[in-house]
Amino acid sequence: VARAYDVPYVPTPEPVVREMLQLAKVGPNDMVYDLGSGDGRIVIMAAKEFGARGVGVDIDPARIAEARENARRAGVADKVRFVQGNLFDVDLRPATAVTLYLLPSVNLQLKPKLLRELRPGTPVVSHAWDMGTDWEPEAERTVSDRKVFLWHVPRRT
Ligand code: SAM
Repeated sequence: VARAYDVPYVPTPEPVVREMLQLAKVGPNDMVYDLGSGDGRIVIMAAKEFGARGVGVDIDPARIAEARENARRAGVADKVRFVQGNLFDVDLRPATAVTLYLLPSVNLQLKPKLLRELRPGTPVVSHAWDMGTDWEPEAERTVSDRKVFLWHVPRRT
């Protein structure tokens, strides 16, 4: 099981964030979860530009403090929430879209949790890393030399 600081902090460039949210077709009815939320930019853009609500989860208290401040400055503090903790411990059931910028091994460890907790049809987008060969992405985009992948959670069999 993954523990604290599974992934270093590296922010996603803004045009790539926008593409991730567009690919997931995020809109005003969505509750976007960014797992490993860094400075909060993904959920903040989801709120500000797409009208969604969002939750960011990060293990690092300094990132959480920064994200809350960024949300306040962006005027979306009432639409987003930042939770300090391990992304593997967070209940994902309220999410209607999930965004990731983690590592290949962490995506693979997270996959069973995504498939178990998210409702069928929920979009999952990942910057840079896929989900291995037994969950092929439905779409792939390249923005500013970065890859973005899209999946939808399948019906449970
Ligand atoms: N999602 C943001 C973005 O795309 O700009 C930040 C991505 S950054 C590559 C990964 C983030 O995951 C870091 O902020 C790090 O603190 C956080 N992180 C690493 N391991 C974690 C864990 N087990 N639980 C929650 N957050 C974690």
